[in-house]
Amino acid sequence: MPALFVGHGNPMNAIDDNAYSRAWAQLGAALPKPQAILCVSAHWTTEGGSLAHIGARPKTIHDFGGFPRELYLQQYPAPGAPEAARATIDLVRSTHIEPDEAWGLDHGAWSVLIRMFPAADTPVFQLSLDLGRSPAAHLDLARELKPLRERGVLIVGSGNLVHNLGALNPGGAPYDWAQAFDAAVAARIAARDAKGVAQALDGSREARLSHPTAEHFLPALYPLGVADENDELGFFAESFDLGSISMRSFLLS
Ligand code: ZN
Repeated sequence: MPALFVGHGNPMNAIDDNAYSRAWAQLGAALPKPQAILCVSAHWTTEGGSLAHIGARPKTIHDFGGFPRELYLQQYPAPGAPEAARATIDLVRSTHIEPDEAWGLDHGAWSVLIRMFPAADTPVFQLSLDLGRSPAAHLDLARELKPLRERGVLIVGSGNLVHNLGALNPGGAPYDWAQAFDAAVAARIAARDAKGVAQALDGSREARLSHPTAEHFLPALYPLGVADENDELGFFAESFDLGSISMRSFLLS
């Protein structure tokens, strides 16, 4: 199975017809049908350990505020993937992953999947992001997930390579620091330098402004961690939304 990172951006992409939602739909139609989907979303964070959702009927979580009613009415009724989730728990040695039955699908997962796999018939589960781990430790954990690809599991990281909600600039050009960080990370991804990507939150001005907090950056390390040298890399949706959100996404297949 391929692996991918999607810049999810604005939750409205779930229902708006725009370049991003069209790119997601096109990609979904071109991908082989997965046995299951593992989504690592910026919007499920834990501290001091990770959780894997093992529910058979994950609920659609509307984890945002101030959007039109139509967005709250959206449901993504895909089945859960308890077997794949338990296989994931068994596979990982570097940390202890606990089974979880309380979560479901947050908008980092469903707002993308509703466009990519609109039939909602592929089982999906999420793995939480442990904010107590360093980016390098996330990459190590991701590497342990690689066998899932052979078992037909599509690994989807969902975040944004630049994400600063405090600096949103509707209709404005992307900031210099945003473009610089996005380009630097893209160059490391293109060079297949996963370790270098994990070191990108280096305290520089560009890194601090691009990620006041790390959660939208960390999901990118998961497709990079499960990749190998035979995968081809392709970028898609390479543009900025609202000046401070990079929508740059990539596929490894
Ligand atoms: Zn988000």
